[in-house]
Amino acid sequence: MIANYHTHSRWCRHAVGEFTDYFQRAVELGFKEIAMTDHVSHKHSWCWLPWEDIEPFDRDLNRAIELYGDKIKIYKGFECEYLPEEMENYKYLKEELGYEFLIMGQHCDKTGQINSFNLTKPDELKAYGDSVCEGLLTGYFKLLAHPDVIFSKYPVMWDKTCEEVFGDVFELCEKLQIPVEINVNGFRDNRGYPNPELFKFSRKYDLIYMINTDAHDPAKLYDDKVAECEQWCRDLGLPITQLYPFDKALNGGKYKGTYQ
Ligand SMILES: [Zn+2]
Ligand SMILES: [Zn+2]
Repeated sequence: MIANYHTHSRWCRHAVGEFTDYFQRAVELGFKEIAMTDHVSHKHSWCWLPWEDIEPFDRDLNRAIELYGDKIKIYKGFECEYLPEEMENYKYLKEELGYEFLIMGQHCDKTGQINSFNLTKPDELKAYGDSVCEGLLTGYFKLLAHPDVIFSKYPVMWDKTCEEVFGDVFELCEKLQIPVEINVNGFRDNRGYPNPELFKFSRKYDLIYMINTDAHDPAKLYDDKVAECEQWCRDLGLPITQLYPFDKALNGGKYKGTYQ
């Protein structure tokens, strides 16, 4: 692993470590790139960064980037739900504060009513899938984090509804060239994801796959669970992209070149 595009800090109130701790660790590990993606503030968030913290958060992150920006490429970002009423706020973060690296982690459906970790019914799964697709189409999100988060509670590992829902999601990821994440935190906590059935199915599509640690602790930027996940991907034959030229994709629309 030479880059991690999904990282939290103590600012999101359920992780530990300062920005500088993560950057220092990433440099020690020889990473070339890192994206900070704390959970964004929104109306339905419960234990995440509150809006009143955005200014000090931003000051702190900018200071850390000043210290480490010449040693490692750093993206300013957030992990966001797609919630239509929040898009104006995301626009502000992106355009006014330079948070270009918004990733979609859909922990609820777009109404904020169905929690993805507690989702059990086919109709709820469809609502999740619709929310993800609608969100991807906004063009705001550079990466789809843990698409399989719903397997935390969904009663089966795969069924007809999964096929329909994730068929639509992956078709869009392919079309828009939005990388799909294999999330190491699922392995850490035995959460039901990453789901091998989902990733086997995904091979029907021409997708960009990347492993992200979703670290909530600087010590977990690279640990044995990342190594386990790397092996898991090899066993499934998933081609993993380690470094992705997001800056080109960010500036020139969809990136169409080759990448490693
Ligand atoms: Zn998440
Ligand atoms: Zn996360």
